[in-house]
Amino acid sequence: MAILDKFLRYISIPTNSDSEIRVTPSTDAQWNLAKLLEQELKSIGIDDVYLDAEHCYVYAYLKGIESAPKIGFISHIDTSEEATDININPQIIENYNGESVNLNEEEILDVNKYPDLKNHTGKTLITTDGNTLLGADDKAGIAEIMTMLENIIKNNIEHGDIYIAFTPDEELGEDTTYFDFSKFKADFAYTVDGSDLGEISYENFNAASVNINIKGIITHLGYAKGTLINSQLIANEIINLIPNEFPETTEGYEGYYHLFSIKGDVSNTKMEFIIRDFERKGFENRKQVFYNIVNKLNEKYNNCITIKISDSYYNMSELISQHMHLIENAKQAMENANVTPFIHEIRGGTTGTRLADKKFPCPNLGTGGHNFHGIYEYICLEDMEKTVEVLQEIVKLYAKQ
Ligand SMILES: [Zn+2]
Repeated sequence: MAILDKFLRYISIPTNSDSEIRVTPSTDAQWNLAKLLEQELKSIGIDDVYLDAEHCYVYAYLKGIESAPKIGFISHIDTSEEATDININPQIIENYNGESVNLNEEEILDVNKYPDLKNHTGKTLITTDGNTLLGADDKAGIAEIMTMLENIIKNNIEHGDIYIAFTPDEELGEDTTYFDFSKFKADFAYTVDGSDLGEISYENFNAASVNINIKGIITHLGYAKGTLINSQLIANEIINLIPNEFPETTEGYEGYYHLFSIKGDVSNTKMEFIIRDFERKGFENRKQVFYNIVNKLNEKYNNCITIKISDSYYNMSELISQHMHLIENAKQAMENANVTPFIHEIRGGTTGTRLADKKFPCPNLGTGGHNFHGIYEYICLEDMEKTVEVLQEIVKLYAKQ
């Protein structure tokens, strides 16, 4: 049960990141876990451990067979600020009966809402007490990587060079901002930061943000006919011209438009949209939709609208498709560990997405956790143990190459 001890130890340390803070790490709390991990890595016998004393990244390197590819594993230290992680009180339910779980007197982990719970019948479930998140995202990933390393050293498992990185502020999208490749010399890596056991993810959205600025014209309301232009009403026209494809009306591989914010008065309205699409062509089409709307309304309202579209990130599958051994070996490793692999698209960005921008291939693997970022988060202990096996199998496969 070594992994359970580790997991409970890591989640007992609060590490919420904070989107209001513009430095990395965004919260001092993350240092507490980073320093513990630095110590633990050393104590399991890894000589080359480095804690970035400015930005709170932990790196480790385990030397292996020189001819084998250099492989990396990455997880994140911070937890989502969408729920607190102070005073986590984990509920460990052995031999889970497959029914709803009372987290406390008010909160129920409802099997009708979360039918995946049933898949863990007879196993050990770890839930919250309904007041905090659990922190499986991504302390499950950290515990799995740490256990894998321990097993590799203890059991003399054959391996190539292994690089580890535990990053701060992933939940803010800032986890690769200060990522130091001189401390992480892997040829490629996996993030261990997904959900279900067996999940492999390497496709995500192409993403852009759209900023629209509308200038109105104020006149005396008594003489407004034909002269007043109300920027808020033009904003409303823009909204009405956007196709009905929103986060709340799409799923799977469907892209969307999302009105992120709108602020205005008669004289000036600013709108911020985001665009998401898996396909590069669909992504460009969505941008064109905005340009067309703005052109049309600029003709009608005498060029009162300006628009700026900035790309945020791209689908990492374009890069991963040149390194498909990462997906094939992950599948093979799962089969070796009696886990059924499945490909799951990511409707968002990940560490791997951001590393793909730096031309570094890094798909994502499931950790066994569910319902991230809230009080209904839970994880299955046996799935964590299986994930450790999967990681070890990946290491073994690459050691032979
Ligand atoms: Zn995560």
